[in-house]
Amino acid sequence: MSDPSPASHPHAGLLGLPPLTAADFAAIERRVAALLSTGQDVVITQGEALLPLEACIRGAARPGSTALNVVTGPYGNTFGGWLRDAGAKVVDLLVPFDSAVSADQVARALEEHPEIDFVSLVHAEAATGNTNPVAEIGEAVRGSGALFMLDAVASVAAEPLLPDAWGVDLCVIGGQKAMGGPAGVSAVAVSERAWQRMADNAAAPRHSYLSLLDWKERWIDGGRKALLHAPAQLEILALDACLDAIEREGLDAVMARHRDAAAAAREGALDLGLTPFVTEAAHAAPVATTMRTPQGMHAGELVAAALAADPGAALAAGGGALAAEMLRVNHYGMDATDAAVARALSALSAALHR
Ligand SMILES: *Cc1c(COP(=O)(O)O)cnc(C)c1O
Repeated sequence: MSDPSPASHPHAGLLGLPPLTAADFAAIERRVAALLSTGQDVVITQGEALLPLEACIRGAARPGSTALNVVTGPYGNTFGGWLRDAGAKVVDLLVPFDSAVSADQVARALEEHPEIDFVSLVHAEAATGNTNPVAEIGEAVRGSGALFMLDAVASVAAEPLLPDAWGVDLCVIGGQKAMGGPAGVSAVAVSERAWQRMADNAAAPRHSYLSLLDWKERWIDGGRKALLHAPAQLEILALDACLDAIEREGLDAVMARHRDAAAAAREGALDLGLTPFVTEAAHAAPVATTMRTPQGMHAGELVAAALAADPGAALAAGGGALAAEMLRVNHYGMDATDAAVARALSALSAALHR
């Protein structure tokens, strides 16, 4: 007879854990709120961060809305698609992926289209290596009265993120970048204004996995006593573990580690004779450093050669249209160290000299 016991599996310790209670879940939400220095409601969303991002857009945008969608990387295009699908009129502010959007550009777009009532922005762009000045942009958005959604998946724990101080109404984070945590769980901080907007939107999802209002009405307004369904226990526990690690190291120290890794990666890339993709160092994200592939070479082939030499190097080629021309050193989470950056650059150097 086969042995039904999972004890011999290397991950058997993940099984048979005591159930995660509503009180545990609420405590982890408070821990996320502390990480974001926010007094807003935090909802943990049980899926990769694209779940709350889509939920925010489908809850807050509707036919009759006009959205300013700032596109500084690939996620902006995804948001534009959801906004249009929700029936909103969309004003795309397209910014070259090698730079940042300025608060002036946002302010001008808001002046030209006073009907804008929703703004979507990505903070740091892990895919293209740029980051946007959210504090200043937040001021411009606040003046317009529009609701402000921020994708902070790649900035949380890597650089300052202050949704309350910056007037962010919907601040989405995920565990898998600088937090060094799980990809299967995410969270959103929701302002009172954002809740009101969703409550007033007849088209907002309800009784749906995409419904933030379900969580507002049944979880938050119910005093966080009863979860809507069984929690994704392993992901939530992993989120708690990474929040604990950040608290122990200190958020400032975690951010400094990312900043230093980014500086080392940019300097190392220049030493290799590579051109940084993000022109100004001030616009470079602390989670990933991108470079242009040297003339006549293909990023995918270079990265494949580098990874053949060192499979553990935190290197990637660009995605989509940038697949040939962009190289990327990822330095987030555990890889936000000088050692990991040096390892990635040395694998890249070996491939370049081949
Ligand atoms: C990583 C990331 C996400 C999450 O998306 P994945 O496709 O799972 O990587 C969302 N937004 C931004 C800005 C990210 O960097």
